[in-house]
Amino acid sequence: MKDKTLESINWHITTKCNYKCDFCYVKKLDTEIVDCNEAFSVLEKLRDIKTDVIDIKKINFVGGEPFLHPLFYDLLEKAHELGFTTSIVTNGSFINRQNIDEIAKYTDWIGLSVDSMSNEKEAELGRGKGNHVSHAIEVSDLVHEYNLKLKLNTTVTKLTYKENLHQLVHRMNPHRWKAFQMLHIEGQNDDCMERLAITDEQFKDFIERHKHIRLIGGVKPVFESNDDMKDSYVMLSPSGKIISNSGGRYRSFEFDDFLSDPQSVVDIGKYLGRDAVYDWKK
Ligand code: SF4
Repeated sequence: MKDKTLESINWHITTKCNYKCDFCYVKKLDTEIVDCNEAFSVLEKLRDIKTDVIDIKKINFVGGEPFLHPLFYDLLEKAHELGFTTSIVTNGSFINRQNIDEIAKYTDWIGLSVDSMSNEKEAELGRGKGNHVSHAIEVSDLVHEYNLKLKLNTTVTKLTYKENLHQLVHRMNPHRWKAFQMLHIEGQNDDCMERLAITDEQFKDFIERHKHIRLIGGVKPVFESNDDMKDSYVMLSPSGKIISNSGGRYRSFEFDDFLSDPQSVVDIGKYLGRDAVYDWKK
């Protein structure tokens, strides 16, 4: 049934990153796949799943920083060849005019992570060394120039929840904007909770300030609280295992268990509730 289908998956292909965001919740997972055939077989397995509830049509390549995976370009190309809508979630630091020309051949969406208007604040969060916002804006221009879809991802923390990001959002002009309440995942970002975590009230304050923003085509931003984010993502670990963040920590599942009982891995109501399936081809 269309309205009960899990259609997208986040594959955290690597945990390596050139940035050191304190709040990062993908610091330690299992080992990435470096054998091309093995990596392609993960994609083929995803393509072959067709159940009443699961029909994966879009792959989000996530990290870490996906550009640091040795097979990143091959994986993108293969996913495109297999008919998936492809999306990259990246800090954008490796994107330039030379490689976007290559990526654009087999990429539909580029998601850039920017949390603040201020280069200095991003550096304080560990995102880059002081030019993250300026560079991300340049990359957003390239993404538009190449007619790719742009998504903006914002993690809202204690350092930034009082900010007004209207100017940034309008300047980058994304097709989608998601703002996340900083999420604690046990064993990943324990150390920064006191410094960076925000309360539900503080997140609501941020939402109130931004909920009237309209994106390209009149699309509304999506705000994900900690509760929205837990159990609502279908994810693959670097080695290709199904994982969930249920209970605020990562747990891995056998692929067959996911196929036979997807609800034990992901809360399908929550998955659909956070607007996970949208018209991404448009
Ligand atoms: S850029 Fe992304 S993957 Fe890298 S440290 Fe920051 S949050 Fe983690």
